[in-house]
Amino acid sequence: MVQCLECDFNIIIPKDSLEGEIVTCQDCGSSFEIMKVTDGFKLKPAQTVGEDWGQ
Ligand SMILES: [Zn+2]
Repeated sequence: MVQCLECDFNIIIPKDSLEGEIVTCQDCGSSFEIMKVTDGFKLKPAQTVGEDWGQ
């Protein structure tokens, strides 16, 4: 589980997730890219070029 960079919501990441996969915060809807680190996962802002989220 990692914290959303936007709202600190705890995002559940499956253990078999791969680096580079995109996860979406269930609370605020932000998308993040998964980075694998030694003690689990980290998030970085996803590249959403070309997508309009309409906010
Ligand atoms: Zn969030």
